[in-house]
Amino acid sequence: MREERAMLIAEVLLPLPLPEPFDYAVPDGLDVAAGDHVAVPLGPRQVRGVVVSVRDGAGHNRPLKSVIGRVDEPALPPGSLEFVRWAARWSVSPPGEALAIAIRGLRAPPPRPERRLELTGKAPAKLTAARERVLQAAQGAASAADLARAAGVSPGVVKALLDEGVLQVVETVTTPSFPPPDPEHAPARLNPDQAAAARALAEAVRTGRFSATLLDGVTGSGKTEVYLEAAAEALRADPAAQVLVLLPEIALTQAVIARFEARFGVAPAEWHSGVAPPRRRRVWEAVAAGRCRIVVGARSALFLPFTTLRLIVVDEEHDGSYKQEEGFIYHARDLAVVRGKIERAAVVLASATPSLETVNNAEAGRYRWIRLGARHGTARLPDIELIDMRETPPERGRWLSPPLVTAMAETYGRGEQTLLFLNRRGYAPLVLCRACGMKLTAPDTDSWLVEHRYTGRLVCHLTGFSMPKPERCPHCAAKDSLTAIGPGVERVEEEARSLFPEARIAVFSSDTIPDGASARALVERMAGGEIDILVATQAAAKGHNFPRLTLVGVVDADLGLRGGDLRAGERTFQLLAQATGRAGRADRPGRALLQTYLPEHSVMQALKRQDREAFLAAEMADRQDAGMPPFGRLVALILSSQDSHAIETYARTLAAAIPNADGVEVYGPADAPLALVRGRRRKRFLVRGDREVDLQAFTATWLARAKPPSSVRVQVDVDPYSFL
Ligand code: ADP
Repeated sequence: MREERAMLIAEVLLPLPLPEPFDYAVPDGLDVAAGDHVAVPLGPRQVRGVVVSVRDGAGHNRPLKSVIGRVDEPALPPGSLEFVRWAARWSVSPPGEALAIAIRGLRAPPPRPERRLELTGKAPAKLTAARERVLQAAQGAASAADLARAAGVSPGVVKALLDEGVLQVVETVTTPSFPPPDPEHAPARLNPDQAAAARALAEAVRTGRFSATLLDGVTGSGKTEVYLEAAAEALRADPAAQVLVLLPEIALTQAVIARFEARFGVAPAEWHSGVAPPRRRRVWEAVAAGRCRIVVGARSALFLPFTTLRLIVVDEEHDGSYKQEEGFIYHARDLAVVRGKIERAAVVLASATPSLETVNNAEAGRYRWIRLGARHGTARLPDIELIDMRETPPERGRWLSPPLVTAMAETYGRGEQTLLFLNRRGYAPLVLCRACGMKLTAPDTDSWLVEHRYTGRLVCHLTGFSMPKPERCPHCAAKDSLTAIGPGVERVEEEARSLFPEARIAVFSSDTIPDGASARALVERMAGGEIDILVATQAAAKGHNFPRLTLVGVVDADLGLRGGDLRAGERTFQLLAQATGRAGRADRPGRALLQTYLPEHSVMQALKRQDREAFLAAEMADRQDAGMPPFGRLVALILSSQDSHAIETYARTLAAAIPNADGVEVYGPADAPLALVRGRRRKRFLVRGDREVDLQAFTATWLARAKPPSSVRVQVDVDPYSFL
């Protein structure tokens, strides 16, 4: 009897929203291991997936489909696989959705080999004049046709030489080089505070164990300098070490990349949606091979196939952009800590205005807490004043109050720069018909259309829908009755131009500055003093250093407070502290003016007194009383459907299936504040649990009891940041 190899079963995770991996038989002679990419049948289709485990199939008696074959791609390292599973459990989402993010870098096809013609050295049997011309032109020719053209001969001449073996086609794949960063290239001279912080981080990095540290310091105190030194230490301690720096905005990457390049002599790899797919594939492959050592990127960089990750920096850790709100919903700051645990890496969370969650973890001793003192050098924090808009209102139809205009004039007169901050894109957030009072909304969505004058369009910021601004009201057909209500950056720019016609004015928002290159160009113009007044959304509020910027005017300081959700106060404080922190970074003192109708509000008072601790203490106490994060946990369920009957029925089914659990309350179902988006009705449940409760397990159990019909989509949002 022939001895048979024991049957092996591969558990294969597919990058699809399926509840779990599938088992496939491994055909004889095929060698696969965890992390390998394979092709497998799925129904009538052939799909690619990743092997998560291989086990002995002895005793397995159900017939299994077989793995079709291996796919030649770099294997996913074990840490990546474990992270994918963790991330899925954390988010109560199908693991295949997390896998899809982890292998997104492979979407572009592998680079095609470069083909060249070369002389083999063999002498041609006979040498004609035409053949001689070919031999002379052969050096470096890209193709037979090129060579024939260059030599002025017919393609047949070249072909004959190829057939004869005088010429050959050589294929080369160029491996892009990621030269190793040099930790000794340009070390910083740190001040004593910074040096102490860098020493503490270096020690955390050297242990080779997981740790989490809050690096806490005002803007300009040198947090970046300090984490650059932590990165240097990681590279010194381990010749294979990899470092990941996460940033909340693509607009910030250029500045940080430049700092890394100056410090280590080579630019780090960049990773975000603006990087072209072929380049992303190269970075992905180099990270998997351990050739790429430093990556600076957006939240999805957390899913890269690092093999030796030693340090993860989450810069501006409080920033809400770390929360991915669509598709696979996750919070990159929280998952950075998870990945750090898996990889035994040091995690550094840096911020001038840390989130309540992180402060709470630091206060409880779960995270180390390193504080940097004042700004580096002679730079001081700006003076912050409140402008009471009830006492000194702007003129009708204007948005800049007299005290702000006076300060702008003084600043301009001294040849210094002003930043006008308004976190609102476009010209006006609302368009209203004066005749019938209708507020214009998108046809399939419950949110207001925002007027954009540069493009002459009305835009839904939620879905991206846009249309030309109509001449008549779509509701009552009145002509020229549509009025713009409220200001956006474009309107503030218009006002600034009318006030300071000579000044050089620019707008920084995601509409005017759509990509990294234009952001860099604008930042350079601003830093070089070529702009007098910059009107900006939050895209410019963060991170940048503008030495000549001495005045920050916040056009509508109350804007973020109006939403009234859980983090409204926290977010407003963070954003305005960041925005006002832009002023006076170098040797000139700065000043920040906040226009507010709520000067007595605790957030405004804390900003004015620059008393972060008082703000945090008050906000912590409120959250604790309400059992809200970080003292409790929240999960939101968002149901959506085009079928209003189906969504109602399913919401009732779900409500009837709520599991009993101590320390958990479920609110809802309720119509979502945005009850209609892209033609889909939306309903929400909100689950609140005590800190000790495993809300993910609760949610998974609940959903398993009441499967939605195919017409209803259910999204789980763990630790929601948006309550719309
Ligand atoms: P943060 O990240 O806390 O906002 P940065 O690291 O960006 O602070 O530092 C703010 C500015 O001060 C930068 O221009 C930086 O180059 C400079 N700076 C900070 N520390 C030092 C230092 N020790 N030596 C020289 N320049 C420094």
